[in-house]
Amino acid sequence: MTPAYQLQCIDCHAEYDPAEIIYTCPSCGGLLEVVYDLPAIEVDFHTSGECRSVWKYRSLLPVDIEPVTIGEGGTPLYRLGRLTLNIDANASASEIFVKHEGLNPTGSFKDRGMTVGVSKAIELGMKTVACASTGNTSASLATYAARAGIPAVVFLPGGQVALGKVAQALIHGAKVLNIRGNFDEALRLMRQVCDEYGFYLLNSINPFRLEGQKTIAFEIADELGWEVPDRLILPVGNAGNISAIYKGFKELKMCGITDSIPKMTGIQAEGSRPVVDAIERELEAIEPEQNPETIATAIRIGDPVNAAKALRAIRESGGLAISVTDEEIVEAQRNLASLEGIGVEPASATSIAGMRKLLADGLIDADERIVCVTTGHILKDPTEVVDVCTKPTWVDADIDAVRRAVFG
Ligand SMILES: *Cc1c(COP(=O)(O)O)cnc(C)c1O
Ligand SMILES: [Zn+2]
Repeated sequence: MTPAYQLQCIDCHAEYDPAEIIYTCPSCGGLLEVVYDLPAIEVDFHTSGECRSVWKYRSLLPVDIEPVTIGEGGTPLYRLGRLTLNIDANASASEIFVKHEGLNPTGSFKDRGMTVGVSKAIELGMKTVACASTGNTSASLATYAARAGIPAVVFLPGGQVALGKVAQALIHGAKVLNIRGNFDEALRLMRQVCDEYGFYLLNSINPFRLEGQKTIAFEIADELGWEVPDRLILPVGNAGNISAIYKGFKELKMCGITDSIPKMTGIQAEGSRPVVDAIERELEAIEPEQNPETIATAIRIGDPVNAAKALRAIRESGGLAISVTDEEIVEAQRNLASLEGIGVEPASATSIAGMRKLLADGLIDADERIVCVTTGHILKDPTEVVDVCTKPTWVDADIDAVRRAVFG
């Protein structure tokens, strides 16, 4: 059976057999994406009563075997209450939602990509899976590789990965190398190693992985009764997720399930903002940031591999890209946690910090229906949390001392 999908170069539009192990266009070097023969596919997920999960949408996913799954997707979409009021009185009439991807099995949206990516690796007969990672990709890859029973190799920017993520990669049995360098260097090395040893690369340059992540768009529309929000706001690191979600919304529209596409709005950290610069300066391509810096280690990436896709997503959808400072990130993280009960890691809080700034600066309307994607769980980075919070008070095990301290 010929599959109803191909790999296609986003630049020269050359098409390739989806069984070829390629990550970029052999002819021009452009990024690849999975394109479906939509008229030939019976897209049935919008009517089924099945519980929401990545595999509910499998009629538009490029996997032809029983998937490697641990129950990813189906994350909650919360409507903001107290935090909304805290932003601006005018904004209280608006509908602002948070899609909390930190509630995936390993604590980040990467699981949506990995369930599809690792399933594809098995389908293609690959023997070892690999990635470079700011942390969450490695945690997720290690987990799905363990589930599938194949080895995983991961390269981390040594000393720059949050503790919870390193712990996950280790306990799930990946071979973990701490590279003396930043993420961009780790990824360059991993791409070379994958070429040399035939490891299957599961960074977001892999177009199959992004197919899993596009289900964030499907789920949001599904939860809103097959309506589309006016705007999506999310952090941008290697720029795969914003590209994937945009693709998901485009496919829904092409299938006639929805009738519009949200304005894709990407948020980066002040010290690591190549995509924001390219949008502001109307550049054709990004100029890499050589020394990216931010407390939001998941998006500490100076040379995002999916920049070409992300720039299109933002421009074609009429979206925006702005940056926020580390202070704004921490404040948003605290507000989300203390006013809404939603615990996220710093990178995820950029979407809230960004929304707040865009509303305050009048760059977006207070009556827009907005979905902010929070990408990772708070427990990923306990060190950062402890650093930014007031420490617990030490008290003697004595009732008078305790009374004084409780009311002190
Ligand atoms: C991977 C990741 C991001 C960045 O996503 P990209 O697809 O690389 O842009 C943001 N936040 C968290 C928590 C992540 O793990
Ligand atoms: Zn090409």
